[in-house]
Amino acid sequence: MPDLDFSSVRVVEVSRTYGRRRALAKVSLEAPAGRVLGLFGPNGAGKSTLLNILATLLSPSTGQVHYGEYTSADAGDALRASIGVLGHDLFLYPDLTAAENLAFFGQLYGVRDINARVAEALSLARLTDRADDRAGGFSRGLRQRLALERALLHTPRLVLLDEPFTGLDDASAHILIGRLKTLAADGAIVIMATHDFDTAETLVDDAVCVDRGRVHPIPPGAGTLRERYRRVLQEIA
Ligand code: ADP
Ligand code: MG
Repeated sequence: MPDLDFSSVRVVEVSRTYGRRRALAKVSLEAPAGRVLGLFGPNGAGKSTLLNILATLLSPSTGQVHYGEYTSADAGDALRASIGVLGHDLFLYPDLTAAENLAFFGQLYGVRDINARVAEALSLARLTDRADDRAGGFSRGLRQRLALERALLHTPRLVLLDEPFTGLDDASAHILIGRLKTLAADGAIVIMATHDFDTAETLVDDAVCVDRGRVHPIPPGAGTLRERYRRVLQEIA
C-alpha cells in the first residue's frame, strides 16, 4: 500500500456529537511535520475524540481534517497506512508472542524486510529477550512499550498517542520521550494527549488546552507548562 507524504495535518471547524452530547465544538488547529503537539485538558474534554478523528477511526459530525492536500474521504486506505496510533486500547493479541504481534501487524501493513523490522522494534522496545513470550503475560508497561513499537512499525507520517505515559516507569518514560523527539526530528507529525505535565514539559513544541469540546492555544511564555495551562483554564472559565 503506498503511503502518503504530507507535511501538516489541519483540523477545520470539526464538531462531533455522540447522540445529544457534544464532544467537540468547531475545533480548528494545525500540526506541522517535525513538531510534537501536546493536547492537555480535564477528563471528558474531548481529547480522545479528537485523536480518534485524526486517526480516521471516528468521523466528524461536521467539519474536515486535511492531511496535506488529502482528506480522509479521498485518501482512504493509503491514509490509514500513513498513521500510527497508540490508544487506550493497546490492540495486542494476548496469545501471540511479542514477536508474533509485531509480525502480524507488519504483514497487515505490508511492511518490507519484516523480520529485520520486527527485530529492530523488539530492540527499541527493549523486549528482545522477551520476543518469544506471550504478550498476555506482560505487565502494563511492557505491553505499552510493545504496542508503541507496533504502532510505529510501518514508519507512519502522523503519530497519535493517547496518554502514552500511563503505566510506564521512569526509565521507560524517558526512553519514550527520546523516541518521540527522534520521530519528530525525522519529520513525523506527533500529536499526544497527556496529563503528565512534568514529562511533557521537555517534549512538546506546541501545546493546546482542550476544554468542553473547544481548543485553546497555550502560548509559550513565563512559567512551567502546568502553570501556563492553569492560566488558560482560568481565562476561559
Ligand atoms: P477526554 O479524552 O478528553 O477525556 P473524550 O473525548 O473521551 O474526552 O470524551 C469527550 C466527551 O464525549 C465526554 O463527555 C464523553 O463522555 C463523551 N464520549 C466519548 N466517547 C463516547 C461514546 N463512544 N459514546 C458516548 N459519549 C462519548
Ligand atoms: Mg481520553
